[in-house]
Amino acid sequence: MIKKLSIAIAMMATFGCSKQPEQIHSVNKAKENTLVSAQAEQSQAVVHNGSAEDSVAAQIQITEELKPVQDVRLLELKSGESLANLLSEFAFSDRDSWLVEQAVSTWTSLTKLKAGQLIEAELVDGQVQQIRFEYAFAQVIEIKRVDEHWHASLSELETVTQTKRLSTSIDSSFFVDASKIGVPNDIINQSIVALSHLVDFQREVYAGDQIDFVFQEQQLVAAEDILKQISKPSALQHVALLSGKEKYRLYRFTDNGGTTAFYHPDGTLAQSFLMKTPLNGARLSSNFGKRHHPVLGYTRMHKGIDFGAPVGTPIMAAGSGKVLKAGWGGSFGNRVVLDHGKGYQTLYAHLNDFANGLKAGMRVKQGDVIGYLGNTGLSQARHLHYEVHKDGKAINPLTLKQPKNTKLSDTQFDEFSAQVAQITTLLDSENTKLAHHDGQSGRIGNADD
Ligand SMILES: [Zn+2]
Repeated sequence: MIKKLSIAIAMMATFGCSKQPEQIHSVNKAKENTLVSAQAEQSQAVVHNGSAEDSVAAQIQITEELKPVQDVRLLELKSGESLANLLSEFAFSDRDSWLVEQAVSTWTSLTKLKAGQLIEAELVDGQVQQIRFEYAFAQVIEIKRVDEHWHASLSELETVTQTKRLSTSIDSSFFVDASKIGVPNDIINQSIVALSHLVDFQREVYAGDQIDFVFQEQQLVAAEDILKQISKPSALQHVALLSGKEKYRLYRFTDNGGTTAFYHPDGTLAQSFLMKTPLNGARLSSNFGKRHHPVLGYTRMHKGIDFGAPVGTPIMAAGSGKVLKAGWGGSFGNRVVLDHGKGYQTLYAHLNDFANGLKAGMRVKQGDVIGYLGNTGLSQARHLHYEVHKDGKAINPLTLKQPKNTKLSDTQFDEFSAQVAQITTLLDSENTKLAHHDGQSGRIGNADD
């Protein structure tokens, strides 16, 4: 009986591996099998060489020497699989699953675990005793079996904050090229929002323009197999768009009142009365090669400029003001008209839909979503038709002279300048390194570390 069992285990060890579909799974399985296999061989050897009595004695001796088999598995949750399914082969019952669900309920629910989630299971004699998984960046939930119960805890892992600089030149679009060099989406979006005040992302961004990002990132001090996210971007510190003669260098600064905004190097607020790109411009593609035609899109006949973007792209109020019209406007389709005071009005046409609850008479703030891009009215393709009116006459939004913004006070400007100097030092040292590296001084390359 014992001999048969030993052989069965040894065979499992030989064939077990190829049956495992998961690669991570297989590696761990192989480790365990080696262990079992060694024990199996030992007991087989005893059975072959000795008498029946010896073999019984040997078995007792082996049993005494057997310590609990401890094993740690790294498992990956498959699509549609629950934690209970995943752990079912390790004596993890439905009751265990229910108790674990209760234990983690302070932070999450097991139903929120998605395909691809890595689970570390600690086994003792084949039974799960401890489960660990990544809950959020640098946070791990650990659930331990204690007698008949499960106890959960959340541990915060050690991180360091690092300043990161990435730069490149635009080849296809601001978003795509920034993404290509590893600028996190959140940082790209912060950059686009900051620059949308000053730049028309469809007409004023050109192939060959230089873009530069400085941002802070939290990084894990020690990596672990179950951790998928090793860093997390926080605030954008600096963004530059160097486009022909127009050079935008914006710096984040928090003033005495605790308000955070982007400023030009001279300390003026980098916000415009009316934003130049009144929609989420993250995926706008530019009309390249039209640098000498800055009025492209605006004509006396057309009276506005068009932004081509996917249906449903959020449209923002270009400036703060009052809603004059929000409804059907004939050839304009669904349209919104805002009044910004000082004789300025803006119009947004061909919308797919309006923002929930938007009505004439309401006040909106700059950047508030007022509707979604569509193809309604006399429109041949999905796009936003945007007009700016001054004293009842349509004007070109691209050449609109914006009122001057307030500047930082002298004492605040000193503090701001010190921050700007720090970033400049960082950029200069990186550029020098790069120049030495590829022998092309003045060229700003990718500074990915
Ligand atoms: Zn139009």
